[in-house]
Amino acid sequence: MTTDMDIALSAELDPIVDIAAGLGLDAQDIIPHGWTKAKVPIDVLDRAAESATDGRLILVTAMSPTPAGEGKTTTSIGLADGLNELARSKPEVGKAVLALREPSMGPVFGMKGGAAGGGYAQVVPMEDINLHFTGDFAAIAAANNLAATMLDNHIHFGNSLDVDPRRIHLRRVVDLNDRALRGVVVGLGGLNGGVPREDAFDIVVASEVMAVFCLATSLADLKERLGRIVLAHSRSREPITVADIGAAGAMTALLRNALAPNLVQTLEHSPAFIHGGPFANIAHGCNSLLATKAGLALGDWVVTEAGFGADLGAEKFLDIKCRTAGIWPSAVVVVATLRALKYHGGVDVADVNSTNVSAVLGGMSNLELHCRNLREIYGLTPVVCFNRFPTDTDEEMSAAISHLNGIGVAAVESTHWADGGKGALALAEAVVEAAVGRAGDGGGDGTAGPAVDDGSVFVAGTASGDAEAPVVDPASRARYSYDLDLPLEDKIRTIAQRIYQAKDVDLPAKVKRKLRQFTEEGYGDAPVCIAKTQYSLSTDASLRGAPTDHIIEVKDVRLSAGAGFIVVIAGDIMTMPGLPREPSALKIDVTADGNITGLF
Ligand code: ADP
Ligand code: MG
Repeated sequence: MTTDMDIALSAELDPIVDIAAGLGLDAQDIIPHGWTKAKVPIDVLDRAAESATDGRLILVTAMSPTPAGEGKTTTSIGLADGLNELARSKPEVGKAVLALREPSMGPVFGMKGGAAGGGYAQVVPMEDINLHFTGDFAAIAAANNLAATMLDNHIHFGNSLDVDPRRIHLRRVVDLNDRALRGVVVGLGGLNGGVPREDAFDIVVASEVMAVFCLATSLADLKERLGRIVLAHSRSREPITVADIGAAGAMTALLRNALAPNLVQTLEHSPAFIHGGPFANIAHGCNSLLATKAGLALGDWVVTEAGFGADLGAEKFLDIKCRTAGIWPSAVVVVATLRALKYHGGVDVADVNSTNVSAVLGGMSNLELHCRNLREIYGLTPVVCFNRFPTDTDEEMSAAISHLNGIGVAAVESTHWADGGKGALALAEAVVEAAVGRAGDGGGDGTAGPAVDDGSVFVAGTASGDAEAPVVDPASRARYSYDLDLPLEDKIRTIAQRIYQAKDVDLPAKVKRKLRQFTEEGYGDAPVCIAKTQYSLSTDASLRGAPTDHIIEVKDVRLSAGAGFIVVIAGDIMTMPGLPREPSALKIDVTADGNITGLF
């Protein structure tokens, strides 16, 4: 069997200077990391942004997935290659660029595997991208751990800020699934070992420094945001920030080079910015804002992925990231699979690969709700992409597509995993049509989007098919699911009722008290970042389809003052995963001549 690794290793990569040249960048504009990777400095991107018209942003999200993942990364890569393939016969389509998250090594050595796509839709060099890459996560870990070290040092040398050792929020991080570090005691070693206290480690991608890194717009903004991170509270319950312990400058120095987005390529030489990778539960779950902006400045299309299903990933992408950045997508691809439809139609995970047309249709409630939310709440045009798997049958596929077309939703089958960009041509065409129709109907009234008169009927978009239509100012088309000036509690309720179809939210007294405290401390106008299971629209992973009348139980709330949001915990959130009994690391090796093997 040909593995992802075999396909990636047999690819002929273009020199990264050629990929950069395709984006209008000179050799001296980039900082090469070898022949096939480079960083693009922020001042170069700023210069490019001044002279360029922004490209169109395409968000790739998904229906509620099965545990295997439905292929958002793979589809994002396939779509970028598909758009560039389409541009070969229709040059007016222009150039597509990818913006993706950097993989964490936790899942690489654990169970889920890498995050560089799959089959003939991959970003390369995948063995580097999946292992260390250009060292960004190491820099983020070092910056985070510097703050932790300085805080403990402050306590050791007299604790003039009166830090309460039982109220320290910042944890040290490593980029591995290391369950032995979930609970530790630090400060042992006698008088010179510091002050003993109970502590815990998180994985790098769960750190607030990572979320901050991904929302920062410049080095100055990065330093500001880092300085705002609340590390601890004092005995008198006053917040103590990174700025208070004087760590923001040195942390920014550690992150200075890392903050420049990384440029690589797909198997078909589409440019790909791969940068940053915050958790999709306690953070917003998408690549750095700078990578997205790099794509917007240098490409005509930017294809980007948001983690988890649309209830979590797209919601946070739109309500947090786009609102912060003043950007807005022109269309949204909702990745669906026949196996996920069958799962939501009641079939056991073990049986989702057997043909079952009625279960495919039975699971539509889930997919339809995600599409309806995107259209009615956010005014966006969804395009459903069926990511074709080898076990899918034509009978099931045509039943699914004609059902969606029948209710006015664009839906296509895509075989990028098996066929690369050529397999995603239909998807690329559908996306161009959705996006151009969207740009054409914006009219600057700020409420773009075809009117939908009732909750159950989709109205088809008004695609003009004219790729030359002017791009309407993205910020003016933005429509969010909640207003920032609502009280924090109402923001949570609004998302729960509008997006998850919940009856209500349940907020224990402790949570209400903390929300009041955050409001008093001046964070009342922050967006909320909900952490819950991705497998259901509810907080109960076993509720499939489109459950109604459920209650969202909020267990805790946390302030991410640097990232600028309130994390709302409505599920069991693991910030330090563990390895499975047979971790993927057992298969990974290096040959005598230096080639990596066993990486999926
Ligand atoms: P997500 O980004 O939604 O988590 P990925 O794109 O990373 O999902 O895909 C998850 C896994 O499924 C990867 O190992 C990928 O290679 C595999 N995969 C994706 N699409 C297909 C497909 N059409 N056929 C077979 N395997 C696929
Ligand atoms: Mg992914």
